[in-house]
Amino acid sequence: MKEIILIKNGEIALKGLNRSIFEDALMKNLRHRLKPLGTLKIKKAQSTKVIAPTDDSFDFEEAVRRVGQTFGVSAFSRACVAEKTVEDIKAKAGEYLADQLRGAKTFKVECKRSDKSFPLKSPELARELGGYLLSKFPHLKVDVHNPEVLVMAEVRDFNAYVHGNQIPGAGGMPVGTAGKAAVLISGGIDSPVAAYMMARRGIGLTAIHFVSPPYTGPRAEQKVRDLLTIVSRYAGRINFFIVPFTETQLAIGDHCPEELFTVIMRRFMMRCAQIIAKREKCKALITGESVGQVASQTLDAIVCTDKVCEMPVFRPLIGSDKEEIIRVSRAIGTFETSILPYEDCCTVFTPKHPKTKPNLELIEKAEAALDIDGLVERAVENTLFEVIK
Ligand code: ATP
Ligand code: MG
Repeated sequence: MKEIILIKNGEIALKGLNRSIFEDALMKNLRHRLKPLGTLKIKKAQSTKVIAPTDDSFDFEEAVRRVGQTFGVSAFSRACVAEKTVEDIKAKAGEYLADQLRGAKTFKVECKRSDKSFPLKSPELARELGGYLLSKFPHLKVDVHNPEVLVMAEVRDFNAYVHGNQIPGAGGMPVGTAGKAAVLISGGIDSPVAAYMMARRGIGLTAIHFVSPPYTGPRAEQKVRDLLTIVSRYAGRINFFIVPFTETQLAIGDHCPEELFTVIMRRFMMRCAQIIAKREKCKALITGESVGQVASQTLDAIVCTDKVCEMPVFRPLIGSDKEEIIRVSRAIGTFETSILPYEDCCTVFTPKHPKTKPNLELIEKAEAALDIDGLVERAVENTLFEVIK
């Protein structure tokens, strides 16, 4: 039996005049994600997209997984292709949906006919197909309000398609339709989730990670690379910048009061990140901060960090509880990697008693002991670049 994927537009359908921009971006992203799996055709038919493999070696199961991870797809169906005859539609539905229907108690049939030359009208075809399925699966009952399985038969231009319940998609907007932003990514739980959430709104990602060799090792760096590879399943290509931060951290440690270390370090991260972000044509920064989670994330600390930022800083997790964040992290597949125990540059130098209510005047006074521009310039200059895809 020949299988295809049908994608219905979700939020994109609401975008009025800009709709075609969003649709084209979605088609482009789908092509990019599915091309490595074999040859295929993607057709647009009104508000539906039809993904049809054109060779037998096409990895259909992986395609289903990838469509489910593509932002801009609110729901989709895997469907089987039938000839445009009542007999074939009945036979294919009975065979293709056998497992689903055997495992259910109730069902309902709906039909759509965009080819008006098909001899039966939609309600007539639905009645015919429903009767057939009832005779083949006599344990079933019809429930028109809340069926366990909604059987759909769609009669279109060249073929008919038969499918069962829709599969929920990743939602959101196609990546690339909302500009670009740079995510400050650690190896922790939060920042990969923050990156995912902004990509879901259509934002393309650049990633920036700070390392402090020899205090942080290659395994910590690899962990971030692995996390980004998972995020890129949803977000597409990610330009990845690795910023050497040892000199800056040692200078802060040597010349600034210990309790101000964290907030001063975060201000340096923002300064470096902004330079890289601008070069990458990013219009905002993204972090995984959430109010009150740790000492550097009190309202006062965030205010002091923000003072060095000209760009907007998006913090999509700002009001989330850790449990909520962990739930998303598990769902998107980053959790197991995030909890691997390698040192991050933040944890290496963390003071014992960080100031939870830092004062901007004191911070600026402490920073005056440092060659701010020189430290930032050298860190950015020695940054390494890779592409994650
Ligand atoms: P996460 O779970 O994302 O590591 P966290 O709860 O550990 O967050 P912090 O260590 O205070 O919180 O970091 C806050 C944010 O700062 C992170 O979410 C991330 O955006 C950024 N950040 C922290 N460490 C790094 C790093 N080494 N490189 C780049 N960004 C970082
Ligand atoms: Mg962390």
